[in-house]
Formats: sequence, C-alpha cells, structure tokens
Amino acid sequence: MNFDLSEDHIMMRDFGREFAAKRLFDIAEEMDAKEYMPDEVIEEAKELGFFGLLAPEEYGGEGIDTLSYALIIEELSKACAGFAIMISVHNSLVMKAIEYFGTDEQKKEYLPKLASGEIIGAYSLSEPGSGTDAGSLKCQAIAEGDHYVFNGTKSWVTSAQRAGIIIVFALTDPEKGPKGISAIIVPAGTEGMSLGAPEKKMGLKCSDTREVSFIDAKVPKANLIGEENHGFKVALSLLDNGRIGVAAQALGIAESAFREAFNYSKERKQFGRPISEFQAIQFKLADMATQIDAAKLLVYRAAVLNDAEGLHSREISMAKLFATEMSNYVVDEAVQIHGGYGYVKEYPVERYFRDARVTEIYEGTSEAQRIVISRNLLKG
Ligand SMILES: Cc1cc2nc3c(=O)[nH]c(=O)nc-3n(C[C@H](O)[C@H](O)[C@H](O)COP(=O)(O)OP(=O)(O)OC[C@H]3O[C@@H](n4cnc5c(N)ncnc54)[C@H](O)[C@@H]3O)c2cc1C
Repeated sequence: MNFDLSEDHIMMRDFGREFAAKRLFDIAEEMDAKEYMPDEVIEEAKELGFFGLLAPEEYGGEGIDTLSYALIIEELSKACAGFAIMISVHNSLVMKAIEYFGTDEQKKEYLPKLASGEIIGAYSLSEPGSGTDAGSLKCQAIAEGDHYVFNGTKSWVTSAQRAGIIIVFALTDPEKGPKGISAIIVPAGTEGMSLGAPEKKMGLKCSDTREVSFIDAKVPKANLIGEENHGFKVALSLLDNGRIGVAAQALGIAESAFREAFNYSKERKQFGRPISEFQAIQFKLADMATQIDAAKLLVYRAAVLNDAEGLHSREISMAKLFATEMSNYVVDEAVQIHGGYGYVKEYPVERYFRDARVTEIYEGTSEAQRIVISRNLLKG
C-alpha cells in the first residue's frame, strides 16, 4: 500500500494551492464580511479550468480523477470554503448529472458551456418542507404538450443567482410520490421562475444561497434528464460525488484552523511562556493533527474508490461523516487555543468555526450518513 501522492496528484494539489494562495487567501475575510464573490476571481477560475474539473475532455473539460478533484477542493477550502462549494456543486452535482444521465443533445449543449464556466450550474433538490426526506418534495412539473409547467418552491439553492441552469427535482407524477420525481434542467430567466432574497447564513457568506419559486413556469420537455419519474434515483446516485467534495471541503477548513492555532500557540505568551509549552495545549494540537490525518486517509480512500468499479456509498459516507465531524472538532479547539481572540473577527479561526458547521448538514446530515453506513453494514 502506497500512501504517497503520485506526481500527477501533487501537480493537481499544487494547481489548487496556487490559485488559493494568489487569488483567495488575501480576500477571503473581505468576501465573508461583504458576502460577495468578486467577478474577476470567478473569471480567472473559469480561464484556469476550475469549472471544468470533472467534465470529460471531449466536452472541453479537464477530465481529472476524483482524488485530484478532492485535492483541489481541499486546497480551495483552506482559503475560502464558500468559493469551494460553488466549484463543488457545479462539478460534482450539475455536470455529473448531465454526463451520467443526459441525452447526447444535452451533453453537447450544456457540457462545453459548463466546463468553460460560460454557465454556472446549481442543483435544487431541497424544499422548505423536505430536506433529509427528499422523496417527500412537493414542487410539481406537470407535462402539458411539449413543456413541463413548474409550480412550487425550492430552497437552499447554492449559486442560484449566478446560475445559468438549475437542475430542479420536481414531481411529474404527483400520485406516485418519490417514484414520480423527475430531474429537469431549468434555464435562468425562465418566465415564472423567481429568486428569493439571499439567505442570511452563519458561514459560507460569500456563497449565494436562495429560494427559487415557480408559478406556471414552462420548461421544454427536452430538458428532462434521464427517464421521466426516475429523478429520485438520479438525485441519490449523484450524492456520492457531492459528498466527497464536502468531505474535502471540511478537511481543508480543519487544516487551516489547525495551522492558525499551531502558529498562535507559539506566539501567544502567558505566565511568561508561549502557550505551546503547556501540555494542555500540546495535547490539543496532537489530537487535532491526528484527527486531521485520519480524516485525510478516509477522504482520499473514498475518492480513489469513487473511480473504481462498484458502489462505494459506505466508504464515501464514512469519509463525509468523519471529516465533517472532525472539522467541527478541530475548529472548536482552534478557537479555544486562541482564547478570547478566537471569538472575534480579527483572527480567521472565527470564520473557519462558522464555515465548518454546515459541512455536517448539507449533502446529507451526519445522521443521514450514519443511516447510509449502518444500512450498508447490516445488509450483509
Ligand atoms: C448553506 C446551505 C447550502 C445548501 N445548498 C443546497 C443546494 O445547493 N441544493 C439543495 O438541494 N440543497 C441544499 N441545501 C440543503 C441541505 O441539503 C439540507 O439542509 C439538508 O439536506 C438537511 O435538510 P433540512 O435542513 O431540511 O433538515 P431536516 O431534514 O429537517 O433535518 C433536521 C434534523 O433531523 C435529522 N433527521 C432527519 N431525518 C432523520 C432520520 N430519519 N433519522 C435521524 N435523524 C433525522 C437531521 O439529521 C437533522 O439533524 C443547502 C443547505 C445549506 C444550509
């Protein structure tokens, strides 16, 4: 067993690391405070290929493997987790939905535009009344001639405002419940579709999150992804991809929080000595570093397995569960090591603390990951 990254993977990690260092680290605080993402940073990310990481090369993408992708998301998240989630949703949920389930026409139409970043993608499964129980969603897309007519409200749509397309999960056969859900590409500007105000979030403040509502919004039937009424399967089968992105995001946040706490512990003096000389602080650092390494192994294993034959939902959920809970533990200890200074915006651990929290919630809560893992264990 080899635990070293290959030269190619190191190159990919450094690609993410360099962009984060040059374009994100210095402005991440400002992006958080002002709750915005500068257009020029997004444009540069497009030019460099961040929007096409997982798109096949034949459609203009980078076609990288999942481990390379996880390494890049980890590096971006070290600097700015809000930026990283936009890249993650776009690549792992939106592009993969079209690559895996789209028609040839949809692939030709959308993949090159998504890969170049000409359009940004959003993914809309959740609703005000359905989160973990995603199969109970209520938004309808009823067939009428050549169109589906959408009515209902979706919630928590990441990148809704910038999105050129949103993949919306809606009931095409309301009588059938989860077996009546379809995945449909809804272009921005569709008449009858409206965006809510940005959510006032605890963290990931530079990432745009909104409700999307539909009143008699017509979308061509040609925008159906996969088979009609098979959308729930589409949603579930994409989650493994997405969860690796969130696990890598959580890992990156934790690594930055650890670095800050480590450095601070060597600078901050109390009782005439750096606090790093107190065993209570040393043991915190030891536990944080050990937890980070354990999560890293699980995340990288999940990424490698994702490209191997067969379903690996158990290992992917283990990675998401462990990395996100680890991240929240590490950011909490990082604040503790900073004392009162960890509680104010002067130090970045305050932002890491807020940003880490959602990783245990979206793309399946920790409770949902435990359900996936235990079901897989018990099925024999
Ligand atoms: C910042 C942000 C961005 C998001 N982006 C997107 C996006 O782009 N697209 C999208 O579709 N969604 C998005 N979401 C929604 C996210 O996926 C949901 O919030 C998540 O799935 C949880 O759903 P919920 O909030 O309705 O919580 P609920 O499902 O109501 O859960 C509440 C609590 O009950 C627990 N629970 C629920 N069912 C069970 C059970 N059977 N057993 C044990 N415990 C259970 C949960 O684990 C949780 O602790 C985003 C959310 C946030 C906060």
